[in-house]
Amino acid sequence: MRKRVFSGIQPSGDLHIGNYLGALRNWVKMQYDYESIFCIVDLHAVTVYQNPAELQAKIEEIAALFLASGIDPKHSAIMVQSAVHGHAELAWMLTCVTPVGWLQRMTQFKAKAEAQETVGDGLLQYPVLMAADILLYQAAIVPVGDDQSQHMELTRDVAQRFNTLYGETFVVPETSLPSVGARVMGLDEPDKKMSKSAQGSGHAIALLDEPAVIRKKIMRATTDSSPAVDFAALGAGVANLLTIFQAFSEWTDDQVKAHFSGMRYGDLKKQVAEAVVAGLEPLQKRYREIKTEPGYLKSVLNEGAERVSPIADATVELVKRRMGLYTKS
Ligand code: ATP
Ligand code: MG
Repeated sequence: MRKRVFSGIQPSGDLHIGNYLGALRNWVKMQYDYESIFCIVDLHAVTVYQNPAELQAKIEEIAALFLASGIDPKHSAIMVQSAVHGHAELAWMLTCVTPVGWLQRMTQFKAKAEAQETVGDGLLQYPVLMAADILLYQAAIVPVGDDQSQHMELTRDVAQRFNTLYGETFVVPETSLPSVGARVMGLDEPDKKMSKSAQGSGHAIALLDEPAVIRKKIMRATTDSSPAVDFAALGAGVANLLTIFQAFSEWTDDQVKAHFSGMRYGDLKKQVAEAVVAGLEPLQKRYREIKTEPGYLKSVLNEGAERVSPIADATVELVKRRMGLYTKS
C-alpha cells in the first residue's frame, strides 16, 4: 500500500507565495508518489473571528487555487475539514490525552493570542485539531512550511502518547519541508514569516495579485542600508528576496551566488519581481478558467469528502474501541 500524505491550508485570507512555496507546490510535486489528501481547514480558520460570508467564499477560492496549482482531483482528494465530522470528533479524544502545558508552549499560540483582544479556547486547542486532521487519516507524511514544525512535533508526541496509553493505534507522521522556501518572510518585516492574517498591503504577495501589484510590492520590500548584494553579510530582507527568486527559478545556490553577487538592490528587486510574475502566470490563468465552470468546485469538494470519509470513520471507530467508548458493533 502506498503511504498516505495529508496537508491543509486555512481559508483565513488570501493565499500568498509563502503558502505556495512552503506547502502547495510541494503537494503538487509529491501527489503521484503517495495517496494524497489536501484539506481546506475551515475549523482552524475560525480559531480567530472570520466574517461568515467571506469565509464561505474563501473556501471555494482556495479549492480553485489548489486545482490551479496543479492538484489533480482525479488522483488526490481535495476536501473541506468541516465536511468530515471525524476531524472534530477525534480532536476531542486527543484533547483528553494532551497536557495543557504542551499547548501553552506553542509559539503560534503565543503570537496569535497576542494579536487578539479575547483569546478563544480554539486558539490554544489548534494543534490538537491539527493532530486530529493528520492522525484521522493515518497519514505518514505531512508536507508543510517550517512554521508548522513545532505543531508537527506535538502531533507526533500526541500520537505516541495515545499509542502508549491505549495500544498501537496511530501512524506517527513525518514532516516534509521544501529545501528552498520553507519559511518565506514578510516583505515589509523580514524578521516575521509571511502570513495570510498579517495586516499591511506590502506584507505578502498574494497568488492572485496582478503583475503590476507584484512589481510594486517587491520594489518596496524592506532591505538594509547596503547598496548591493554581499553574500558575506546578507540582511534578512535581501536573503528573503534571494530565496523567493531561487524558489521560483529553481536555480542552484551557486547559480544564485554567481548571478547576484554585487548586484544593486534595485536591479535585484526587478529580477525577483519578474521571476514571481512569470512563476504565477500559469496558475493565475488556470484559476480564471476554473472560476468559469459553475458547480465544478462544489462537485470536487463533495467528491473529496465522500472519498475520505470511510478512512476517517474507521479511525474514529478504532479510537473509540481503544478508549472503551460506546461503539454500535
Ligand atoms: P495564518 O496567518 O492565517 O495562520 P498562514 O499564512 O500562516 O495563515 P496557514 O494556512 O496557517 O497559512 O498555513 C498553510 C501552509 O502554508 C502550512 O503548511 C504552512 O506551514 C505554510 N506556510 C505558511 N506561511 C508560510 C511562509 N511564510 N513560508 C512558507 N510556508 C508557509
Ligand atoms: Mg498559519
